[in-house]
Amino acid sequence: MKITNIHQSLVPDEDASSSSDGGSSHSSDYHNPPPRKKPVRVNYVLSKSFPNLDEAKAFAKESKKWSPHYSRKMLNNSTKHHYHCRFLRDCPARMHLLESETGTELYVADIEHPHPLNIVIKPYGMSDEVKAKINHLYQKGMTAPRSLLRRLKADGLGEPTKNQVTRYIQVTFKDKKKNV
Ligand SMILES: [Zn+2]
Repeated sequence: MKITNIHQSLVPDEDASSSSDGGSSHSSDYHNPPPRKKPVRVNYVLSKSFPNLDEAKAFAKESKKWSPHYSRKMLNNSTKHHYHCRFLRDCPARMHLLESETGTELYVADIEHPHPLNIVIKPYGMSDEVKAKINHLYQKGMTAPRSLLRRLKADGLGEPTKNQVTRYIQVTFKDKKKNV
């Protein structure tokens, strides 16, 4: 019997018919779940509530952790807006906004990101905050990338790569010197 499922679309690996432990084990042919893949149980935890979708979306955007993925209307007239991890494409972490008439709720899957959340992926993707800090330190005489990196880390400004810092310094400061 097929259940049209809201649930399966949400978590493809979830075992939709995981209910019965009422001793049906004797009829082995009755319901034969393929034993190949262990179903992954994902629990979604209510993280935050918003008066409306716009505010929820703004919050998701500001968190800089999530990218919108797709939206789906639910049978009960609510809409689920699914989000992916913004840092890594293959990251298993998930989040969705559940939009209903009464408000919007943010649910986060209880899956850990298998990576730090302050990683910087793009070569020049350092935040303005980090750049400002580097400018400041560099002008105070801290010019060695290794020292700068140590300082950024100590100040909780993430951990850009040495390459990023080196290139940033080159572009920002060496060129200026030439012009002077
Ligand atoms: Zn992630």
